[in-house]
Amino acid sequence: MNKMTVRDIDLKNKKVIIRVDFNVPLEGDRITDDIRIRAAVPTIKYVIEKGASKVILMSHLGRPKGVGFEKEFSLAPAAKRLAELLSLPVKLTKDCVGAEVKSEVAAATEPVILLENLRFHKEEEKNDPAFAKELASLADIYVNDAFGTAHRAHASTAGIAAYLPAVSGFLIEKELQYLGQAVNNPERPFVVILGGAKVSDKILLIENLLKKANTILIGGGMAYTFLKAQGINIGNSKLEKDKVGLAKELLEKAKAAGVRIEITEDFVIVPSFDSNDGKISDVIPDGMESLDIGPKTRAKFKKVLDSAKTVVWNGPLGVFERDAFVNGTKEIAFHLASLKDKGVKTIIGGGDSSAAVSKFGLDNKMTHISTGGGASLEYLEGKELPGITALNDKKAAGGCGCGCR
Ligand code: AMP
Repeated sequence: MNKMTVRDIDLKNKKVIIRVDFNVPLEGDRITDDIRIRAAVPTIKYVIEKGASKVILMSHLGRPKGVGFEKEFSLAPAAKRLAELLSLPVKLTKDCVGAEVKSEVAAATEPVILLENLRFHKEEEKNDPAFAKELASLADIYVNDAFGTAHRAHASTAGIAAYLPAVSGFLIEKELQYLGQAVNNPERPFVVILGGAKVSDKILLIENLLKKANTILIGGGMAYTFLKAQGINIGNSKLEKDKVGLAKELLEKAKAAGVRIEITEDFVIVPSFDSNDGKISDVIPDGMESLDIGPKTRAKFKKVLDSAKTVVWNGPLGVFERDAFVNGTKEIAFHLASLKDKGVKTIIGGGDSSAAVSKFGLDNKMTHISTGGGASLEYLEGKELPGITALNDKKAAGGCGCGCR
């Protein structure tokens, strides 16, 4: 069912509370990457433009203890950055619930109010109904635009929706549009690139995508468990011994389902994980380990990708954080950027693959880069996201469209 968005509800003279994801990386009080704040701006601007009487934002930041204010987890740096981005004053309240916050919100003359870190209260992550109701009491309409926490059933992502009309912002709308279409109705051929450290983190993902993809390309640390399952020598490369049987099973399932699987077939090998002296090799001799896909694999993967209409990529193909092992991930990322120019839908499924794409300066060169690591993984695994489920369904044609339920 399609979920209602800010476009589907009358915001004029309404107090609107928006769950944003301002969980930004900080060094002291300096924000080292403000992409999440920038990503929230279109929804905030839209709500202001549509005449909301109050725009109240709420977010978590980091992992405070949940027993009150801790300066290092204050949203003050985020409030400051947001004010710069909007060119508008932003008021940061002292807390997120309580009588004082209510008065602060009522008295605020600033066009945007940011509540202090939700996780200063343990009730947030417990999805405590009384806490959710307190948050709801500040507003008339709830907007969720924090895709990064949509896989969590917290008070600000799920509980609050029981007390207010609940719609998505543009960020969640876009995530559902691209991830949803890729998974449920992809333009084919649909090719999935899987990498990252471990098979065990991606079992459900592989199982779900086996039902959907035409081809799956497997690289990164997880490839070696699959190679082992095929009886190939992997030296000291990353292996999850207890998952070899499962890898075998997944390969058989893929065969039965007619899904083509391609796995790393040449390597960048080193004598130890700390070594940067990588050598290209067709085999992994005993005592060596592989930290990147080799040139033959890159060429093969690119060839497969050339026939794709939709590509979803989750997980780097090598230890991309280190220059000696970045090339596999980098070549594939640049290739995807060139395919996007030819009309291929290129969707980056969050987490480390998004970080890699950013590192290569390709942020604007993909069809969609998911902002949620865990949330996009769970969505691609086919799981329900509580923060999405909680939103109001779009009315069938003829509904009143006011957001009532
Ligand atoms: P994940 O969080 O599962 O997507 O894993 C990402 C991590 O996998 C990155 O930090 C990579 O450095 C790591 N990784 C990728 N390829 C390999 C490899 N061949 N051996 C060890 N780690 C790898």
